[in-house]
Amino acid sequence: MLSLTESAIRASFVNCTKGETKRLAVPRDLDQQPWHDLDFFGWRDPAADGRAYLVAESGGGLVGVALRVATQSGRARRSMCSLCLTTHTGDGVSLMTARKAGREGRQGNSVGAYLCADLACSLYLRGRKDAGRRLDETITLAEKIERTSANLAAFLTRVTS
Ligand SMILES: [Zn+2]
Repeated sequence: MLSLTESAIRASFVNCTKGETKRLAVPRDLDQQPWHDLDFFGWRDPAADGRAYLVAESGGGLVGVALRVATQSGRARRSMCSLCLTTHTGDGVSLMTARKAGREGRQGNSVGAYLCADLACSLYLRGRKDAGRRLDETITLAEKIERTSANLAAFLTRVTS
């Protein structure tokens, strides 16, 4: 994806109040992110363990979603990210919930998905981060990226619809 500025990131959130958007923690090292290898930009709030964010290109614009990270059960188990289908052990995958955009969100509705806990799906797909084991698949990297983007688009649609 194209590199993002802090103001573009803050302006992209669809499920936050104006105040939340102003206060949320955007990484300071935006100029050092591997934008070329990212299908979306995701990060955890270093100061608030239960918060995560992702920003993706969607329909010519940007869609940002604030997420709540469920507390881990602590059991060592294998689980799979629903976006990139990378399998992690232990707490490498987290259940994250997004308050829905607009009126539905104000009524308390949210949607959840199991995601790579560090939101680095793009880097696992490209082998730039090692998850230990990936599905043994014969499809190409381009197809995996396409599948991940489709899964992400479906998640974003659930948040905004
Ligand atoms: Zn993932």
